[in-house]
Amino acid sequence: MPELPEVETVRRQLQPLIAGREIVGFKLLPGAERLLRGRSDAEIDSQLRGCAFTTVGRRGKYLGLNLDNEQVVVVHLRMTGSLRFRPRGYEAEPFTRAVFDLDRGDQLRFVDVRKFGTIDLVDQMEEAMPELGPEPLSDDFTPEAMWQALRGRQQPIKAALLDQRNIAGIGNIYADEALFLSRLNPEAPAGSLRPAERRALHAAIQQTLRDGVAHGGASFRDYTDVDGAEGEQQYFVRVFRRTDEPCDDCSATIRRIIVGGRATHFCPRCQPVRQRTRTVKSTRPPRAKNARDTLKP
Ligand SMILES: [Zn+2]
Repeated sequence: MPELPEVETVRRQLQPLIAGREIVGFKLLPGAERLLRGRSDAEIDSQLRGCAFTTVGRRGKYLGLNLDNEQVVVVHLRMTGSLRFRPRGYEAEPFTRAVFDLDRGDQLRFVDVRKFGTIDLVDQMEEAMPELGPEPLSDDFTPEAMWQALRGRQQPIKAALLDQRNIAGIGNIYADEALFLSRLNPEAPAGSLRPAERRALHAAIQQTLRDGVAHGGASFRDYTDVDGAEGEQQYFVRVFRRTDEPCDDCSATIRRIIVGGRATHFCPRCQPVRQRTRTVKSTRPPRAKNARDTLKP
């Protein structure tokens, strides 16, 4: 499923391609009625016709294609959706579900094997989205903001990262990678993180997402960009879908478990279950302050 880096890659590609381009028609292909969530393509066509795209925004995994009539086309790629920018005569992609006809003979095509993607035409992007947590690559996403979203939560940290109400845009790939980078066990309760662990997780979330954007997203199965090309982040993952392979850092065998109903990949040695803080006082004598003290008589 496209996550923040994949959707951001699409946003960056689309912006220069469609900015200022007029929509001369919109149509659904047969069988794609669910894409518009109950609205007809004739209705959307009549509203879009003559409008031009201005900028392309993103919130979490949602794209917002802004129009010069102040409305916005909100696109959610969901499982297998992708957008293609093509000249009208370019061969049709299989599973094309909707087509925006643009001026100068170009098309923006929505392609989706599984048909879970959605397109909404609304006045404000929020109208087409559920409540979302903070944007993890924004200036507002400080370690404190991350902790505000996670504190008090007893669910495993892996599940908490996937919940879009906590933090927007993180999916299975980048959650597993961020937990590996921060050396956190995916089943640790989200609200149990200590200050140093929070700082490590915050840094790891931002690093994994930035790396994903820098590599044009990850193409494990379905994700492709607006030109139909694959990203490269799949060549850089440390644990995701590397079950039974050796960990890059310690050579232990990467394991796959299910957390919160989702496949989860981690290194049991780099990401151990944390020992509980000891409450029984040690009976060993206190260690000498300076190692030399124990050597010299
Ligand atoms: Zn390891």
